[in-house]
Amino acid sequence: MNLILLGPPGAGKGTQAKRLEQSHGLVQLATGDMLRAATARGSELGLKVKAIMDSGQLVPDGVIIDMIAERIARPDCRNGFILDGFPRTVPQAEALDEMLAERRQTLDHVILMQVDEAALIDRLAGRFSCKNCGASYHERYHRPQAEGVCDLCGGCEFVHRPDDRPEAVEARFEVYRRQTAPILPYYRDRGILRTVDGMGEIDEVARQIEAIVASAK
Ligand code: ADP
Ligand code: ADP
Ligand code: ZN
Repeated sequence: MNLILLGPPGAGKGTQAKRLEQSHGLVQLATGDMLRAATARGSELGLKVKAIMDSGQLVPDGVIIDMIAERIARPDCRNGFILDGFPRTVPQAEALDEMLAERRQTLDHVILMQVDEAALIDRLAGRFSCKNCGASYHERYHRPQAEGVCDLCGGCEFVHRPDDRPEAVEARFEVYRRQTAPILPYYRDRGILRTVDGMGEIDEVARQIEAIVASAK
């Protein structure tokens, strides 16, 4: 099963993708996490994209498309994947279709997570992530079970993302409205767009997603 989780910054895509990894054995392909890993390694790509990411703008389509094409071809993706943070533009959505067609793979569901802007601001302001595995937590809504230890990997170092500063958050919302929202009709017209109410608690949102995943295509 191949899924896309779509939604504005802070909608809960990463949180739900990690759940689906555990419950369904799917692989999370999070372009933001891949780019942050490249930045942390200090690779050429990482250095090139850091300033763009910190400002809340999008990295050029070509860079992202190459990165996903390489990742999707690896054997661990054969049992299914969850795209989290990709596609974010119409050209990316078109490139994904080509990639999947070449590999004789299909998309099962595109799941849009709807959350209002006030809640998104609150979520991003309190977000912190595991430095090792990228799992995200929230100061009030989702603390690790053991204080200071990542539930998923046992890591003890956490970071606040530079682009979760209020200045960059506004830019990211604008980018979402202008560049990412236009891909919704692309999937709606094909009948594979499903919408969940992302305002509920994490478990409640997970239940809605489970129902979609369990339903026939
Ligand atoms: P969010 O939590 O806002 O959904 P991500 O971790 O997915 O953020 O992405 C962080 C940043 O990485 C984006 O603001 C953008 O600069 C870059 N990025 C991630 N995915 C893409 C993509 N598909 N296309 C262009 N830029 C991307
Ligand atoms: P995205 O990947 O879409 O940017 P995240 O999964 O990182 O979003 O979630 C953003 C922040 O909101 C994190 O701090 C996360 O712990 C928190 N969060 C995620 N889902 C919910 C929810 N349903 N209710 C409250 N907080 C949530
Ligand atoms: Zn971790």
